Amino acid sequence: MQRKNAAVTLETLYKIFTIPESEDSTLAKIEKEISQNVRGFLKAHIVSSDTLPVNLEKEFADFKIPDDPVYVSQQADFLLSKVVSQSVHTASPRFVGHMTSALPYFMLPLAKMMIALNQNLVKIETSKAFTPLERQVLGMLHELVYRKSASFYQRNLQNQEVSLGSFCSNGTIANITSLWVALNRLLPKSKGFAGVGEEGLFAAVDYWGYKSLAILVSKRGHYSLQKAANLLGIGKRNLIAIPTDQNNKIKMDKLKQKIIELRQKKVGIVAMVGIAGTTETGNVDPLKDMAEVAKEYGIHFHVDAAWGGPTLFSNKYRKMLAGIEEADSVTFDAHKQLYVPMGAGFALFKDQHALSTIEHTAEYIIRKGSRDLGRRSLEGSRPGMAMLVHSGFRIIGRRGYEMLIDMGIEKAKLFARMILESPDFELVSEPELNILTYRFLPADAAPYLRNGDKRNVTEANERLNSLTVAIQKEQRDKGKTFVSRTALQMDKYHGQTINVFRVVLANPLTQEKHLIEIMEEQRRIAARIMMEDKSWKTGT
Ligand SMILES: *Cc1c(COP(=O)(O)O)cnc(C)c1O
Repeated sequence: MQRKNAAVTLETLYKIFTIPESEDSTLAKIEKEISQNVRGFLKAHIVSSDTLPVNLEKEFADFKIPDDPVYVSQQADFLLSKVVSQSVHTASPRFVGHMTSALPYFMLPLAKMMIALNQNLVKIETSKAFTPLERQVLGMLHELVYRKSASFYQRNLQNQEVSLGSFCSNGTIANITSLWVALNRLLPKSKGFAGVGEEGLFAAVDYWGYKSLAILVSKRGHYSLQKAANLLGIGKRNLIAIPTDQNNKIKMDKLKQKIIELRQKKVGIVAMVGIAGTTETGNVDPLKDMAEVAKEYGIHFHVDAAWGGPTLFSNKYRKMLAGIEEADSVTFDAHKQLYVPMGAGFALFKDQHALSTIEHTAEYIIRKGSRDLGRRSLEGSRPGMAMLVHSGFRIIGRRGYEMLIDMGIEKAKLFARMILESPDFELVSEPELNILTYRFLPADAAPYLRNGDKRNVTEANERLNSLTVAIQKEQRDKGKTFVSRTALQMDKYHGQTINVFRVVLANPLTQEKHLIEIMEEQRRIAARIMMEDKSWKTGT
């Protein structure tokens, strides 16, 4: 439908900021559909990618901002047909490859209210009630992790002199914030020296007598730590990957060895990082042991609990994270297992004064001694996402989150059993939380893996690797079901790296029947690929 462009006048511009188009526009229809039935809206408008256009990019090739405006309805039509239709159905119960899941229905209208209010959390003048609200949310999470006394929270929760944490856009920023604080604590102020923040890294390392700096994490560490090492001037090479055991957990003896070696070389250890829920396999490091080592050597202990943090809600599974309460800092992501829309993470600190080491003030905006949250955050302007986390806490509650967590872990165990019981699949990493990895294993290849001879194993894995990639790609492109893919180095296979399907079971809508569908589709795709590729003995 070709419509003439809208004319731009001061009057129409004014209208854009005040009242909506009164006609029954596409936008009004979208709003109605979404508010009545989000799932129906997504189902109706996202096209299954069997019909994926070959060249999606050509729809987005214009490089000039248009001079003349179009009607809101025209843009809404465009979005529906070109963008929404070609989006990924992240809420689908059959999409179990990512950490992004369905959202509780109330998040949508509340998010709209948040946008309508358009508060800026950087300072109290633009956020008012949102500032104490955000502090409360940080305090609630702090209590979930550190379980300090009631009087501790009464003293600190709303005390502008201290901070229990920093609300961030995501886990990446939370990790960077935590390591930023750790760096400032390793290279602090002293007599005649103003600290790394003032004097810079060169002067600080020199003053404190280090030859270089390092961060320690297992080889399953999230890539955001590399960004942090780069950004903080530590260097990606000095983010040292410690080997892991069969269960993807950091090897404590290797960690200690490395610490001793670095000390002898006069390398300053900024932090050691424990992972509560590795991104690829969902495993948890021995946090208690790590906390002890950190204490023994006086090293900042950071726990990256971006994924696994909410396991603390579960009475049954909380013990897996034992030791997290001894961490100096902890990263949490609300847009993962707290089921809040994208854009919410936290860095929490055991010591309420820790964030003072990076405090920054400016005259016009984040004044000294003010309540402005922007004084102690890496980010500047930030939206009122805390409102959505607060709403989740109240509407879902501890009990509700506990059920969601337990359900995910138990579903992962169920899926693992289904894989183990299927001779044509191999379970690669057993789920500890709600993540597991596996691959398709044709009867043709299984004996070569089992016999253990290095050449046989290597060859079989090479062929399986390309098969795994081909299955995952075709499955993704068909768009009916989805698992993601990663590569894991396997001691069991002489250190060879194998490609695997990765499954994350966080969507409460995913049921056993969906898991069966996923395996069925993989079998079908595999059969077709092997039929066409003569190097596979098919029919076996
Ligand atoms: C997701 C994740 C991150 C990064 O979080 P973003 O929100 O994607 O920036 C960091 N660490 C772990 C373990 C994660 O799972």
